[in-house]
Amino acid sequence: MYDAIVIGAGPSGSSMALALCGQGRAVAIIERSEFPRRKVCGEFMSAVNLELLDRLGAGAAIRAKAGPEVRRVALFASGPGIDAGMPRAAGDAFGRALGRDVLDGILLDAARNAGADVFQPCRAVKIISDGENATVRISGKDDERVLVAPVVIAAHGSWEQGKLPTNLPKSSAPHDLFGFKAHFKGASLARDLMPLLVFPGGYGGMVWTDQDRMSLSCCIRRDVLARLREQSGALSAGQAVHAHIVASCPGAGSAIGSAALDGEWLAAGPIRPGIRPRFADDIFRVGNIAGESHPIIAEGISMALQSGWLLATELARFDRWDREARVAAGSRYSKAWNRQFATRIRTAAVLARIAVLPQSAAAMRAFVSWFPESLAIGARLSGKTKALPVLR
Ligand SMILES: Cc1cc2nc3c(=O)[nH]c(=O)nc-3n(C[C@H](O)[C@H](O)[C@H](O)COP(=O)(O)OP(=O)(O)OC[C@H]3O[C@@H](n4cnc5c(N)ncnc54)[C@H](O)[C@@H]3O)c2cc1C
Repeated sequence: MYDAIVIGAGPSGSSMALALCGQGRAVAIIERSEFPRRKVCGEFMSAVNLELLDRLGAGAAIRAKAGPEVRRVALFASGPGIDAGMPRAAGDAFGRALGRDVLDGILLDAARNAGADVFQPCRAVKIISDGENATVRISGKDDERVLVAPVVIAAHGSWEQGKLPTNLPKSSAPHDLFGFKAHFKGASLARDLMPLLVFPGGYGGMVWTDQDRMSLSCCIRRDVLARLREQSGALSAGQAVHAHIVASCPGAGSAIGSAALDGEWLAAGPIRPGIRPRFADDIFRVGNIAGESHPIIAEGISMALQSGWLLATELARFDRWDREARVAAGSRYSKAWNRQFATRIRTAAVLARIAVLPQSAAAMRAFVSWFPESLAIGARLSGKTKALPVLR
């Protein structure tokens, strides 16, 4: 019997568990993968999150490992790159990147040290609610168990299929985007620069992360990927995407031209951008499963960390988490979530739609050379400097 069961130990789940432990609640967190594990993600974290991580007690460990400050943004499209200053946030002025194999481990360890019971590797396979408490069935390597709590929080992301009531239904369309990511050693990219890459059928980003690794992540349309794979014969999907980026995006090509891959290309998806219910069927949602922005703005980790904190703050108003308290917290959390994230999700959707249009690399480059400040405006609209709200 717990106060809360959190499903998934990505940044949303572990930070949520950490915040609830800080309130003295009994928390279980369930994660299906063994750590450390790499993940499709560009790994950039906006500056405002560092202050939040300090409040959760994990800021120092993360600062000690993260890559250099990102002080400039750029567009790498069909010609030479164009760059502009990254807008400064209050406090830590600039964001930094940290490998997900490192970040997710630090956060989960912090939750464990704060008192959370960690069930890993274990998959949540069923949630049943009787109106007072919910029962979550979890399946480990050799056993099944049942955990009970009044509060259940889905933090399991949005890219995997499953049978939980919070998993998204399967869908497939030619314009679906698949995510890819690789680390490189020895890349030639300025250490304070985070370029947006635009290439036929997709977009991506590059940034220096920890351990002198540079992360390259991108999204590419399902139909374009199928065509590339047909043309590239024996290449894996990741290798075909790599060759396509080098051939069509000169800035990215020169950054990774003589760099060495560090590990394999990873793939995930299709990604499922959009705004979804934050509380439904008596289950709270945080991170990607509550709502997801196109990765073009690199704000998913921010939204994961901050949504967990917003929900924990709303739940803290109640001593007992009975049904009435859950409904009230769910309603307030949904509104706070909208105020914090809706604009950046819509901004990202518009940018992503433009980026994947045919010929958009040349058109975006022409626009940004004429108006370089648009890069900083885009970074601001995407929430890079938006502080956490004071909730009353
Ligand atoms: C190409 C690409 C690049 C990106 N780049 C950036 C970037 O630079 N910066 C940024 O901020 N965001 C970026 N993002 C977005 C970011 O990766 C996500 O928004 C973020 O990972 C969401 O965190 P989460 O905690 O909600 O979910 P996740 O990180 O997906 O974590 C969910 C966890 O739940 C576990 N799980 C799933 N199902 C179950 C189950 N049934 N039982 C138990 N455990 C389960 C999974 O194993 C996983 O560990 C990018 C995304 C893509 C696709």
